Amino acid sequence: MGRLEQDQELRAALRATAGRKRREMYGLGVYVRGLIEFSNICKQNCMYCGIRSSNRRAQRYRLHPDEILECCKEGYELGYRTFVLQSGEDDWYTTDMLVSLIMEIKRKCPDAAVTLSIGERDNECYTRLFQAGADRFLLRHETASASLYQSLHPTMTFDNRRDRLRALKEIGYQVGAGFMVGLPGQSLEDLAEDLLYLQELDPDMIGIGPFIPHEGTPLRHEPAGSLETTLDMIALTRLIIPGALIPATTAMGTAHPYGRELALQAGANVVMPNLSPVAVRPKYTLYNGKICTGDESAQCRFCLELRIREAGFDMDMGRGDSLKR
Ligand code: SAM
Repeated sequence: MGRLEQDQELRAALRATAGRKRREMYGLGVYVRGLIEFSNICKQNCMYCGIRSSNRRAQRYRLHPDEILECCKEGYELGYRTFVLQSGEDDWYTTDMLVSLIMEIKRKCPDAAVTLSIGERDNECYTRLFQAGADRFLLRHETASASLYQSLHPTMTFDNRRDRLRALKEIGYQVGAGFMVGLPGQSLEDLAEDLLYLQELDPDMIGIGPFIPHEGTPLRHEPAGSLETTLDMIALTRLIIPGALIPATTAMGTAHPYGRELALQAGANVVMPNLSPVAVRPKYTLYNGKICTGDESAQCRFCLELRIREAGFDMDMGRGDSLKR
């Protein structure tokens, strides 16, 4: 047998083993999170990201808290019980504003979980948002290689990223970390470091997706990350942290028409359909070719339900808390 065939057999065995582990931990259910991308204004300048502050061509927007609440209410009617509020690092949203918003969402949607993905803030802010009712926080570590992290994040440091993730955990959030695969300059050793870092942090949620270039960034001419390697990383993550909630990311769906289904088969167990108003969706462009920018929220929900069922899984509209809770 040639090297290529051997690799392919190994890959298939790895993914099948991860798929079995996922069934053992979570059955065939796929948790669904309603994603609201509420602002693409960002003070950071990450080299790979389409909403980096230096990208003058990005059409910027921010949703008013009342509009965010409306998205949640619409999602709640559609059956969603987790809302992920994601944005660039936009300080226009003060801690007080976010506290009021979270309390209002919890009042209108009492049995729903609120996940924040708003980047780095100080301990006081994270604590107050948790006390207001936020349940979970996504902050990908992006890459655990300190030198690669430094070259990609001119305005941030890996030490601080690690410190923020530790703080979120100590405060009591269900914490999400994660990384991109195929970043320019990233080696297989760097990916191994990502897995080791995840093992050390032991997060509740782990987002893994391929790097995809964006035309308005310095990395526009770099090749996209490999779908196959990303699937390997998802499978390995399922095996080393069996109880993790692992999304089949939009970037996977962008990299390949069945990328999300392949991710589910390799051990992922979460999907995050978009609940943002259709008018702003094309503006939240992190990378080229992002999918699902045109469908209404209801269409997104039903399209995904169909795809999940066809892939052999069941859509689970429950809160889907971490098994560790
Ligand atoms: N600002 C928040 C933060 O830093 O956590 C949340 C928003 S950030 C835009 C969401 C995620 O998008 C990042 O964690 C990063 O992994 C991913 N992302 C950004 N640019 C990307 C690209 N070019 N390809 C793939 N993923 C990308």
